[in-house]
Amino acid sequence: MKLLPESKLLLLALSAALSLCPSVAASEEQQKLIPTAAASDYADSLGAKADYWHPEKMPIRVMIVADPRVPNYKPQFRDFFIGACQSWSEASNGKITFKFVQAEPCDIKVWWTNDLKQLLNKGELGEAQWENDPDGMYRANIKLLTLNEDGSRGINDQEAKLMCLHELGHALGIVKHSPYLGDIMNACIDFNYSTPLDQLILSPRDKATILRLYTEGDALLDKLCAESADPRARLMRLCFRADKLVQNEKYEQAYPLLDTALSIDPRCTPALSSMSNCCFEQGMDAYSAGNYELAVSRLSRFIETSKALNYMNNPQIAEAMESLNRCKAKLNQSKSK
Ligand SMILES: [Zn+2]
Repeated sequence: MKLLPESKLLLLALSAALSLCPSVAASEEQQKLIPTAAASDYADSLGAKADYWHPEKMPIRVMIVADPRVPNYKPQFRDFFIGACQSWSEASNGKITFKFVQAEPCDIKVWWTNDLKQLLNKGELGEAQWENDPDGMYRANIKLLTLNEDGSRGINDQEAKLMCLHELGHALGIVKHSPYLGDIMNACIDFNYSTPLDQLILSPRDKATILRLYTEGDALLDKLCAESADPRARLMRLCFRADKLVQNEKYEQAYPLLDTALSIDPRCTPALSSMSNCCFEQGMDAYSAGNYELAVSRLSRFIETSKALNYMNNPQIAEAMESLNRCKAKLNQSKSK
């Protein structure tokens, strides 16, 4: 990679994702530097862990802990974070909105520290951690250093502004780095200390990526999940989506997702649990509607998944067995006619 004279390669944080599925470990990110301007966005490279804040969570409540006692903290750092919120909001065409709060509860909390040990990875200037569930992102913490990566000096305004934009991008769902140099969301930012602050802004690709994430939402995440080479990440996404569909009684849509999830890991407890609920409800509905073939298929699978979960004491088992036997009898009757 070519560096400009007087420029500094700023290594930005590799962020860690906290997820609902404890079995899904955050894998080390493989970062490729592709110095081209080929694509108009990098949404397709975000991977199966990408997520977003759903519309009902807007405005996102942001608590900025601007503590002047932190060594090397400057009051303008707070303004940089507010500016970063405005930039991402504008880039999303207003789909992302923020509300600044003075105290908890909040959705995103940001603070500065001069303690390098507070970051998970050495050599970084900040990090974002977030939590998500079937309803999308719901909490993020952003830690930013007031010192450079080796602690030898205070960070300057350019670095502070770039870090706010970059870490907030992660917290909004751009979980991976842009593969393109020159984007705020690339792992390395090549910048010049004499660059005026108003030129350190989101690139057109950063803007197009956040817009796609918040416009396409689940459709984009499903596509990324289907294309992902990481089976654990695919599994997590499938479980999230199916669980939500089961909660909303959309059993027909949930079933194939759960079937795929269990083909990846037949012992995945969240998938088995959702499959059990899905099959019981869909099976009983089919029985009531006189669709005995579907009822037999689903109620049989309900019993099978209950066995796999050791839930055979579940009172629904007896109900399902009884309905299953009636369905089979109905099918036999119609065959013998
Ligand atoms: Zn990063």
